[in-house]
Amino acid sequence: MRKAIRFAAIAAFVTLTVSCAPKIAITAHRGYWNCEEAGFAENSIKSLELAQKNHLWGSEFDVHMTSDLVLVVHHDRDIQGKSIHTHDYADFKDYRLKNGEKLPTLDEYLTQGEKGGTVLVFELKQQYDKAHEDYMVDKSIEALKRHGLFDPKKVIFISFSMNICERVAALCPGFTNQFLSGNMSPEEILAKNINGIDYHYSVFQKNPTWVKEAHDRKMSVNVWTVDKEEDIKEMIGQDVDCITTNEPMKVRTLLGRKERK
Ligand code: MG
Repeated sequence: MRKAIRFAAIAAFVTLTVSCAPKIAITAHRGYWNCEEAGFAENSIKSLELAQKNHLWGSEFDVHMTSDLVLVVHHDRDIQGKSIHTHDYADFKDYRLKNGEKLPTLDEYLTQGEKGGTVLVFELKQQYDKAHEDYMVDKSIEALKRHGLFDPKKVIFISFSMNICERVAALCPGFTNQFLSGNMSPEEILAKNINGIDYHYSVFQKNPTWVKEAHDRKMSVNVWTVDKEEDIKEMIGQDVDCITTNEPMKVRTLLGRKERK
């Protein structure tokens, strides 16, 4: 059954600060390099553990919300044909990731995140209305605080939802907060108090001045999902801050000493 939700009004003014220095970094998209071939499912706790052990700068994960308002870590909107948004958490109790893990709740994932060693690149997935998106942001912040992770050095936020990014901007000043969709310029994004962009590399190919325009405004720039060597080199040449990739060791080799510590 869907629960009614309430959310608090948010402050209208925020102070923009950027926590990412303009250096290149690595994010292991969906957890770990070649994760499926290596037997590690995307968005799994094991993948986060491996990213931590291998000192990847960051590890991206995706957060959805079930109909009974449980935050879970999963990439796709559906699981085995069931929409996460319209099913209770208990409906997924028998589901297993490819590595045998059950569907992680956000709290279970953050328990591993507490061990540190990699920045949590926290993607808040679009919900079907503003109220649920706002509730998800608020519950995510509560969870991060509960785990001692509400810290701009430990977490950056990304989302395709403008509403989610705007709420994060209001409630999490000082955190890196990147909009994912690629249909708005750095200037337009900053006008909404959002201090970063995280776009597919084809967006930067079409808009070659956007990385510099973002940096001139002290905005952080992430690029996804870059796996081919020539694309990685191109993005390194454009001086982006973060490269989201399924091939972090390849990126690390190409970056050499330029990799963010
Ligand atoms: Mg993602």
